[in-house]
Amino acid sequence: MNQRKIGIAAIGVVLTGLILFSVIRKERSPLPELIETPEVVAETIVVEPEMRYGIDVTDFEIVEGKIKRNQTIADILAPYNVSRQEIFHLDKESKKVFSVRNLVPRKKYTLLYSGEPEKRAAYFIYEPNALEYVVYSFVDGLEIYKEEREVEIVERTMAGRITATLDQSIREQGGSAALVNRVADVFGWQLDFRSIQRNDWFKVIYEDRMVDGESIGVGEVISAEFNHVKNSYMAYAYDSGSGIDYYDESGESLQRAFLKYPVEFSRISSNYNPRRYHPVLKRRTPHLGTDYAASKGTPIRAAADGTIITRGFTNGNGNWVKIKHNGTYTTGYLHMSSFGKFKQGQRVRKGDVIGYVGKTGLATGYHLCFRFWKRGKQVDFRKEKLPAENPIDPAHIDKFEALRELQNKKLDDIPKGWADKSVRASASAN
Ligand SMILES: [Zn+2]
Repeated sequence: MNQRKIGIAAIGVVLTGLILFSVIRKERSPLPELIETPEVVAETIVVEPEMRYGIDVTDFEIVEGKIKRNQTIADILAPYNVSRQEIFHLDKESKKVFSVRNLVPRKKYTLLYSGEPEKRAAYFIYEPNALEYVVYSFVDGLEIYKEEREVEIVERTMAGRITATLDQSIREQGGSAALVNRVADVFGWQLDFRSIQRNDWFKVIYEDRMVDGESIGVGEVISAEFNHVKNSYMAYAYDSGSGIDYYDESGESLQRAFLKYPVEFSRISSNYNPRRYHPVLKRRTPHLGTDYAASKGTPIRAAADGTIITRGFTNGNGNWVKIKHNGTYTTGYLHMSSFGKFKQGQRVRKGDVIGYVGKTGLATGYHLCFRFWKRGKQVDFRKEKLPAENPIDPAHIDKFEALRELQNKKLDDIPKGWADKSVRASASAN
């Protein structure tokens, strides 16, 4: 063959090859897809590892339980091949993070273990409260750490009409005692919740603190409206840099320098009365305090910022605390069952828990006897014109007004779940 023929033949071979290749390609083209398809599907159906407490639990058996009375960590771990030596080590090391001796009955725990070749504990997780959990890991030597769950703040609304008490109206709608206390605190100086009327009504927007989709408690009241005898009282939470305070529509503070209720939302059982007949001493002795009946152990709060100048016991007062607020005012808290964490000489902030309701000293039932001194002389706390907190800082007026408008709109949008024929008093409500 000459060179030309070789050339043509070569072209022919190349062409044939190309055609063949393309035919084969065409015919084969579905095949790679068929082969690949299961792989692609397999990739998309890969199961997400099941995570709990930030741990991949896919390969573990899970035991959930609650600590039983007198149960120790050794009792719980015994069936899972944790040696006595490891328990000893755990007991010692855990003190640095969260001691396994501090497990409290009825608190939740989770145990992760592997079943092969024999049961062996991998993780013990303890939940001291709804917010925190402690992980004791036996996977790679001993490792102990404490984690805090993320708290999600959800805004909730509630509207209710008073049929008996504020407490009942809020509880009827699934609201907690804490929410009742928040609302009572917000309006404490504007409204007397013991004399609110049937058909008064309220709307409240408040924070619900959620962890893993479950409520762990009420946060702040964001805004509220309380309609008392057809007059609306408004409250807006605003933080001008030093924490939340509550203001009315014109930016005046709703709060006084003093708490109105040194015991949360309790019942006044005996007023200040200089001519009272004493039930224990059986003679006329002045009652120079206000008695708040409450169950044993109810927290008692510092009525205002100040310094604890007395924390002790006398036969008459029982366990008692005295707080000096400034050159003018001093307060006393009598008959406590026990004290709070604040010691004599320490500063306290308004609302700090300084003790718990009891009946120590001269007392017939559980109550707080609250004493109030003005320039060294005992006076009726409930008749005092007490100083108000400061109004909105002028530098914050614009921001406050924008917030107020937004909250007014949100409050208006909360449906009233009852037939209301009264007209909202426009003068104070707007
Ligand atoms: Zn008293």
